Amino acid sequence: MLKDIPYWWDTAPTLPNLAIRSLPANADVVVIGSGYTGLSAARILALRGVNVVVLEKETFGWGASSRNGGQVLTGLKWGPSALIEKVGLTRAKELYAASLASTKYLEDLIAEENIGCEYTRSGHLEAAWKGSHFQHYQHEQEVLAREFNHQVKLIDRQDQPSELGSQRYHGLLVDEDSGALHPARYARGLAICASGSGALLFENTPATKIMRTGPQYAVVTPQGTITADNVLVATNGYTDEAAREIGQRVFPLGSYMIATEPLPADLAAKLIPHRRVVFDSKQYLYYFRLSSDNRMLFGGRADYQSPTAESTRQSAKILRRGMVKVFPELKEVPIEYAWSGNICVTRDFFPRMGQHDGIYYALGYAGHGVAMATYLGGQIANIMCGAPSKNPFKDLPFDPLPFYYGKSFRPFGALYYKLLDVFS
Ligand SMILES: Cc1cc2nc3c(=O)[nH]c(=O)nc-3n(C[C@H](O)[C@H](O)[C@H](O)COP(=O)(O)OP(=O)(O)OC[C@H]3O[C@@H](n4cnc5c(N)ncnc54)[C@H](O)[C@@H]3O)c2cc1C
Repeated sequence: MLKDIPYWWDTAPTLPNLAIRSLPANADVVVIGSGYTGLSAARILALRGVNVVVLEKETFGWGASSRNGGQVLTGLKWGPSALIEKVGLTRAKELYAASLASTKYLEDLIAEENIGCEYTRSGHLEAAWKGSHFQHYQHEQEVLAREFNHQVKLIDRQDQPSELGSQRYHGLLVDEDSGALHPARYARGLAICASGSGALLFENTPATKIMRTGPQYAVVTPQGTITADNVLVATNGYTDEAAREIGQRVFPLGSYMIATEPLPADLAAKLIPHRRVVFDSKQYLYYFRLSSDNRMLFGGRADYQSPTAESTRQSAKILRRGMVKVFPELKEVPIEYAWSGNICVTRDFFPRMGQHDGIYYALGYAGHGVAMATYLGGQIANIMCGAPSKNPFKDLPFDPLPFYYGKSFRPFGALYYKLLDVFS
């Protein structure tokens, strides 16, 4: 029987009750959203002695942070050459360095707080869908070494079985610096750290309106209104009317995942021998990995609309077909979980962090947010306290998206990317 919840929710311990008091009338900072961005920010704010309240409209970590692939990736959405093309070499170096800083920040945080989230420095594989994509990897390897001082390995198709038990791909790029974790355990661990540091966390408490009241803000919830000196919007792909102005500058995309039943250990070891996390070179990419109990977790952007129960079921079928193309051995293996979540993209697919009309925000990770959301959450918290911090995405324009009238244009986006996969 297919379970329509994330596999991660079933395998993460239940949180202790963190909301032990009623909503306060005042706070120094209200953080809206309890994913990695909001919780990482709340932890730093609380550690710096700031009186911080986190509001979550569902349960702690409910959004993308407890549903993702758990791939802790170096780099950004754009590969190294595209990055240079888009922002120039100097800026590209800064942005790439920020991605490496983000994985180190996450790794240090997990070690410092002793968060049990199955983190390993597994490394990641990029798998070439076409021969031409592998040639591009050769170029990317040179660019990474020359411009970003970052070393990766290439594995050609013949040697591929040492890293990936699939005939579908045309060679691999191996980056040893990436990692893997259990996303829901990590989100829940962060919630415990933020709470333990002194942040007050409230779930099932949506912010429904943010109003300016002189130099302060009134954050309205069904449980009462909080007056705060500052507000941080950390709602990423779930941004709603409460933060409308910021929501007009980003848009959500559905990403979908399935998990098989546990595989025999020898089969798991044949498919992904070093238990690295993997994504491929398609525009409509597949990403996959093994869980600690040897399930194949297989994801993709199988649908370009905000997920529904029906689209999640349909996408599970599409993903299953994709998985069997990649790993024919899994043809008869039952799927036990299917789920979906929202990623958040900006116009140029770079994250954003800053202030709009006085309200702070950090979001738009374009499916690369496990490390970056953690990092930018920490950085924006430092900025809010006047402490030293880094904003690698400053100065990038953050205008409302043109022609963004809701969902109608997304099917055209989907078609565009599917065609790229056929013709590129
Ligand atoms: C299926 C999937 C797979 C992914 N795989 C990877 C991966 O392998 N590697 C990677 O790096 N990234 C991945 N990502 C992206 C990554 O998960 C996100 O970038 C990251 O979790 C974003 O964290 P966040 O805290 O900014 O947002 P979220 O975790 O989405 O949290 C936002 C929260 O805000 C809450 N909220 C919204 N509005 C309000 C309101 N008005 N009041 C109160 N609360 C509100 C929501 O309920 C939600 O819990 C994936 C995403 C998805 C969906």
